[in-house]
Amino acid sequence: MGGFDEKAFDSPADEVEESVETGPADKADSSLIAHHSSLDLAVCLVSGGMDSCVTAGIAREESGELAFLHVSYGQRTEARERRAFLELADFYGVRRRLVVSLEHLARIGGSSLTDPSIPVAEADLASREIPTSYVPFRNAHLLAAATSWSEVVGARRIYIGAVAEDSSGYPDCRPEFYEAFQRVVDAGTRPTTHVEIRTPVIHMRKTEIVRRGVELGAPLQLTWSCYQAEEKACGRCDSCALRLRAFREAGIEDPIEYA
Ligand SMILES: [Zn+2]
Repeated sequence: MGGFDEKAFDSPADEVEESVETGPADKADSSLIAHHSSLDLAVCLVSGGMDSCVTAGIAREESGELAFLHVSYGQRTEARERRAFLELADFYGVRRRLVVSLEHLARIGGSSLTDPSIPVAEADLASREIPTSYVPFRNAHLLAAATSWSEVVGARRIYIGAVAEDSSGYPDCRPEFYEAFQRVVDAGTRPTTHVEIRTPVIHMRKTEIVRRGVELGAPLQLTWSCYQAEEKACGRCDSCALRLRAFREAGIEDPIEYA
């Protein structure tokens, strides 16, 4: 499967959706692609964090069937995030799963998440600077993988749990980025392909995301947000700080353990 060869990735075969394992002949025959189409299938990008967990809960309400896509990119906590992804997929009963490694993002570096020589900064939620945890243009790579997979499996929508205002200020979390990427998808896929990018939590405050998750019965206890620890969450990085503040403001106890 080109650059997204799941065999290059350390994952058991049962983590991978069946149609992905079909041979190259399928890809060349559009009638077989139609065969894979489901009436109301959506691809959901699931990092394993809280926002993607709640986004998946919303996607489940809006879709007939979900396909979960997880992207590792050499980030510090990739093993822990992958575990959260698998547990979320089990919880939501999702059989179509794809785990891909975009390890070129780690080789490119430029982020404290992928470059061990750049320390993960203590949170500064008042700062307006783009934090060092920003992985340059990462979400475009994620959306590109999701678009390719959607076109192959016949999905109609892609869900991604980007949060704009109430988050770290990453430029690839802004609504205008998703509007622009929608035009990229429309221009760069088959005329018969119609995939809509949905960002259901993009304008929510983090505390609203917690509340919505609880309302939906989303398994927040299975999620992982910490940027630097894999045993117990550090409680000090940007992602932990945003998460803890969200639960505190919602008046709900965060079900995961902190150091
Ligand atoms: Zn942390």
